[in-house]
Parts: sequence; structure tokens; C-alpha cells
Amino acid sequence: MTDLDYDLHCDAERAKKRQKFEAAGHFVHVCVCCPQDDVLCLTFEHPAGKNSDDTTLLVCMNCKALRDCLQRAEPSPSPNPRNVFEVIGRWLLSMAGYFGILMSTLRGFGDFLINLAKDGYGDDLSFV
Ligand SMILES: [Zn+2]
Repeated sequence: MTDLDYDLHCDAERAKKRQKFEAAGHFVHVCVCCPQDDVLCLTFEHPAGKNSDDTTLLVCMNCKALRDCLQRAEPSPSPNPRNVFEVIGRWLLSMAGYFGILMSTLRGFGDFLINLAKDGYGDDLSFV
């Protein structure tokens, strides 16, 4: 296979994944925790767990691995995984996990923007 063949193969795989995500109602293809936007690196995440709620988000494989690790430390499920309190509790634990993962991304963007300002970028811009 040539480099062009590999590129065409990956483009076709990306098109398939985009269709899969859009069929599930996801039209913005970026990880919810980091700036990863290559659809090949994204996957579905069930914030409350598959057994509790059908809602999905898109996350990259790295953030999914971190989230899965946190999820394995969460309390074991109640007898009824669709119990309203169980679902809300799972969502809250999930959001806490995402915010934890997101913290390093937010710090990175914050540091980046402040360094741009220190170099004089943005002096001609305003919020009004
Ligand atoms: Zn990510």
C-alpha cells in the first residue's frame, strides 16, 4: 500500500465514524474533555453507565481510559440501575470525573492565553 492508499483508507474510516456519530445525534466531533477532534480517536461514553441511561457523549480514547478508571472506583450499582437517584448519582460522579480530566486542559489553555498576552497578542482586542 502507498501513503495515498493509507490516507484514503483513513478518510473512509473517518467518514464511517462521522455517519455513526451523526446517526446518534452527535454533530460536533470533539472530545468533551480535551481538544481532540480526529473522529478516529473518538468514541461513545455513557456518562451514567450503559445500564442506567442511554445518553451518550463523545470522548477521545485517552479521556475514556481515564474516565473508565475513575468509574471503576465508583460505588457498586443499586439493584435497579434505572432508579432515578441512581441515574442522577451516576451522572454527578461522571461530571466530577470529566471536570477532573478537564482541569489540565483548562489550565493548559489558560497558560497559553496568558503567555500570548505577555507577548503582546490581544492588546488590540476588547470585550465591548
Ligand atoms: Zn479527550
